[in-house]
Amino acid sequence: MRKKSFTAVVLAGGSGKRMGGKTKKQYLLLNKKPLLYYSLKTFQESPVDEIVLVVPKGDVSYCEKEIVLKYGFDKVTSIIEGGEERYDSVYAALSETDTDYILIHDGARALITEEVIKRCMEDVVTYGSAVAGVPSKDTVKIVNDFGTVSETPDRSKVWIVQTPQCFETDAIWDAYDRMMDSLPYEERKIITDDAMVMETFSEMPVHMTLGDYTNIKITTPDDMILAEDILKK
Ligand code: C5P
Repeated sequence: MRKKSFTAVVLAGGSGKRMGGKTKKQYLLLNKKPLLYYSLKTFQESPVDEIVLVVPKGDVSYCEKEIVLKYGFDKVTSIIEGGEERYDSVYAALSETDTDYILIHDGARALITEEVIKRCMEDVVTYGSAVAGVPSKDTVKIVNDFGTVSETPDRSKVWIVQTPQCFETDAIWDAYDRMMDSLPYEERKIITDDAMVMETFSEMPVHMTLGDYTNIKITTPDDMILAEDILKK
């Protein structure tokens, strides 16, 4: 049987506003290297075949020179500009790939490990999808507009979702096409991850794969301190 092929899409097209400061989050230094370096390095060393990198508007040449070429990430086959929202960036990246499977990863999750990537790659071949996540250690409350609890889901069934989120390329492409065709622009705000696009616009069940509690999304300055600690360990 032909060997299956995998593309990692590393998303770094956001503005990182919640971090504050002048430097864009993806270029802040963590242990003397830009944040974006870390997930690219882990995918570079993983068994994926190629990497599509999504960067902010106007930053393609900067990222090519200062990150991709500088650190020798030769699995990066294209660097493209992101869109207005995360789903626009993913949609743009989808047309850059024709491999069997796609692993969509938030560049802000700099501490992704090769073990999680490999687990996801195995599961996506078996189940058609593999979304990294971890069982919630905390009890979760659903709260209404008045700040009152409307529901407490059974904690044993609650997972915290991470990335990579991996799918058969044709299936995720189809689901994204359907979303773009049928969901009015104003209603797309609720789409915060790719699994949601599959859940809503595809019949294919979404399989959860065990991620890692250290696979945090670096969003605020506190997360930078936490990430530095985790890296040291
Ligand atoms: O904003 P959020 O935390 O959901 O961003 C998750 C990831 O998606 C980040 O790595 C960010 O750079 C990326 N993103 C993107 N294009 C956007 C918005 C976010 O590539 N328009």
